[in-house]
Amino acid sequence: MSTLETERFDLVIRNVRTVDGGPLCDLAVSGGRIRRIGQSIRCEAVETYDGEGAFAFAGFVDSHIHLDKACILDRCNICEGTLPEAVRETARAKAGFSPEDVYARAARVVEKAISHGTVRMRTFVEIDPRAGFRSFEAIKLIRADYAFAIDIEICAFAQEGLTSEPATFHMLDAALADGADLVGGCPYTDPDPERHIEMVFELAVKHGVAVDFHLDFDLDPRHTDLPEVIEATLRHGWQGRVSIGHVTNLSAMSPTKLEAIAGRLARAGIALTVLPATDLFLNGRGRDRLVPRGVAPAHVLARHGVVTSIATNNVMNPFTPFGDASLIRMANLYANVAQLSRDEDIAQAFDMVAANPARQLGVTYGLEEGAPATLVLLEADGAKASLREIARVRTGWKDGVRSFDNGRTHIFRPGTKGKTA
Ligand SMILES: [Zn+2]
Repeated sequence: MSTLETERFDLVIRNVRTVDGGPLCDLAVSGGRIRRIGQSIRCEAVETYDGEGAFAFAGFVDSHIHLDKACILDRCNICEGTLPEAVRETARAKAGFSPEDVYARAARVVEKAISHGTVRMRTFVEIDPRAGFRSFEAIKLIRADYAFAIDIEICAFAQEGLTSEPATFHMLDAALADGADLVGGCPYTDPDPERHIEMVFELAVKHGVAVDFHLDFDLDPRHTDLPEVIEATLRHGWQGRVSIGHVTNLSAMSPTKLEAIAGRLARAGIALTVLPATDLFLNGRGRDRLVPRGVAPAHVLARHGVVTSIATNNVMNPFTPFGDASLIRMANLYANVAQLSRDEDIAQAFDMVAANPARQLGVTYGLEEGAPATLVLLEADGAKASLREIARVRTGWKDGVRSFDNGRTHIFRPGTKGKTA
């Protein structure tokens, strides 16, 4: 190509910031990948999009969501608002789930997540004698049908115990041989938590997959299943492939004890996800005043080298009777609850719904030349402002193809036909 010839691309996105508060630049895309990032790129393109100063980043990553049991408030009773009640009510409801029902509810949540800029998620799917494989079959279809916009990984999950229900173990085994991406357990619902942890690892090792535990969901700083998870991770050489969610009792520990645990988690390569909406809703129910937050201090753990993320968990069910699958809202909620204010802490909280969960899920992430053109535009000048303001999500692309668009805001001042905000 002569130097006089203009370069041609499939798509050029102009006037965006790829660095927080940085200069405006352009992204040129061809063959689904970012080919060039630079200021005022001189080129021709089949399609041009004006980002109007938006912040472009590689999209949100939800490391922990339950698509199978979302949107079931219409068939559950919430009287106590406690964890045992949520487990009980959901167990009752799921016996009546059909694949069509699970698909319809999951699709609703996935479409919300896409429109909120989420490009990847790890969903738990309960597989046991009550749910059978019905939810699993539905979520596999969801994974395929929405792959144009979002990468979904499926965690075959034992919500209600393994040692007490051996059939679940064999069902998880079968699911892992039939399309599940990883395995998850919930030691606190099992009469024998230690054996439960070992059984989950047994499946992980057999199938060569990652592990994700719901762990220590209470406010008792004396009791923890964490040592067993750390020990099993090291014994099996599973560093970098183990996640734990909730661990709300960390919020009740002294800073010294927390620091010691953070060091052990970092050394064992165990990632931690906090689920602020659920943790806030279910914890501290025995109190009639000064209700504790009960959210693990992820930002403190991160300072000690633990990979931490903030995620959605549940949407519109007895665990969390709220939800819109918006991760920028969830990161904002966490920052507010954790009383963060410094720029570095706000930037870190943003990373907890973006780069950190990507690392947790073991995928490469970031906008750079040669990377997949999967990106989202936020109406702010950077990550920190996006989090503080809960920035509006404008539009997004997956592998160079537009996957959603929320349109532009118009303010209709009297006497005008509407001015683009
Ligand atoms: Zn969960």
